[in-house]
Amino acid sequence: MKLSFHGAARSVTGSCHLLEAGGRRILVDCGMIQSGRDTEELNAAAFGFEPRAIDTVLLTHAHLDHCGRLPLLVKRGFRGEIIATDATRDLARLMLLDAAHLQEEDARRRQRRAHGGRDAEAPLYTLLDVFDTLDRFGRRAEYGQAIELAPGLRAGFFDASHILGSTSVLIEVKEVGGLRRVLFSGDLGNAGRPLLAPPSVPAEADLVVMESTYGDRRHRPYAASVEELYEAIAGTLQRGGNVIIPTFALERAQEILFVLRQGIEQSRLPPSLPVFLDSPLAISATEIFRRHPRLYSAAVAQLFADHRDPFGFAGLRFIRESADSIAINRITGGAVIMAGSGMCTGGRVRHHLRHNLWRPEASIVFVGFAGHGTLARQIIDGAHEVDLFGEPVAVRARVHTINGFSAHADQQELIEWRGRIAGVEKTFLVHGEEAVMSILAEKLPGPLEMPRQDQVFIV
Ligand code: ZN
Repeated sequence: MKLSFHGAARSVTGSCHLLEAGGRRILVDCGMIQSGRDTEELNAAAFGFEPRAIDTVLLTHAHLDHCGRLPLLVKRGFRGEIIATDATRDLARLMLLDAAHLQEEDARRRQRRAHGGRDAEAPLYTLLDVFDTLDRFGRRAEYGQAIELAPGLRAGFFDASHILGSTSVLIEVKEVGGLRRVLFSGDLGNAGRPLLAPPSVPAEADLVVMESTYGDRRHRPYAASVEELYEAIAGTLQRGGNVIIPTFALERAQEILFVLRQGIEQSRLPPSLPVFLDSPLAISATEIFRRHPRLYSAAVAQLFADHRDPFGFAGLRFIRESADSIAINRITGGAVIMAGSGMCTGGRVRHHLRHNLWRPEASIVFVGFAGHGTLARQIIDGAHEVDLFGEPVAVRARVHTINGFSAHADQQELIEWRGRIAGVEKTFLVHGEEAVMSILAEKLPGPLEMPRQDQVFIV
């Protein structure tokens, strides 16, 4: 067997791993590079393998750093089958259509700036490439079941508890000497969160490829983070301001809705608290979340069974139209406004920041990761003034950074997850910064590798 690494090698995005076994070439994920410099060139670069030669793609989940380059793979000749869970398929469709739309818009903007004179760069892929990609989705993965990829070669799927429909994948290969098993963790969830069931872990594997995003730290307990959110909202309402929550559309938005609903039910928040979800992408994602009631924790599954909406409550308004989004700007206090993008690099949240950042009675609550150089990072780091739409805006609102909502396992959970798998010959760490990986590596048992980009291992 041959195992090679073509993304998320000593970095956190662009997951893409290739296993050559049983005469087949199986790609696990084909993600977009979203962090660091020169991401546009890196995403447009060659894959490090021949797309035409890939037989199967196993997609672990719908985050763009795992599925975002699939349309490029298809555009460059991949004609095999993509296998994913139903929920991943639905969510990936939404994320890829949105990504293509944004890339086409960016390309048009570049073209206008170039005045048609010199060649402006074409988009990485278009909506048409996404439709071609959706045609390649074949059999549906189910938790706890295996799919035969070829005689003597099969893939089993386990709940990774990271986002709705996310999987860890176990590939089993019948060889002359016996069965060989390679486990890909995918992204692993933070077990304390309320929506999803805890991860399920295969009992045995010969080789393990595992993520290491938060391999160097412990998360704050989930309950403490929820408490912090309720207190931030209650305090802001008392001061008469708005609460702005920059929100990632996929999973985080739904999780915050669930937590707000719970706060209202437990009388921690006012019963008619006005909450605006001002993000068409997050609204569409929420609708997909409602379509997969089987995939949740027991408590959330029970809500669905009782015909109660885990993501709905009296004061919640979904805002799709931009005219309605603009109308929210007239509200000077008493509302919770959730809008994208999560890192404030674009989207409607920038308008809400323009109208609230300068108000001392308002608050901005960050519930997710904020990369270096982003507007979110500037505000979190204590900037007194930021630039919005070419104008300086003073930061007078209270800023809260709540870290416990992470969708990733922390160090302790990663160690425990790995500890549950018996018979491991070697562990390969991926999807983490190099310094973080090194810290985790010291805490894990047995031989270990930290593959470099395009590094190949005969296993
Ligand atoms: Zn992920």
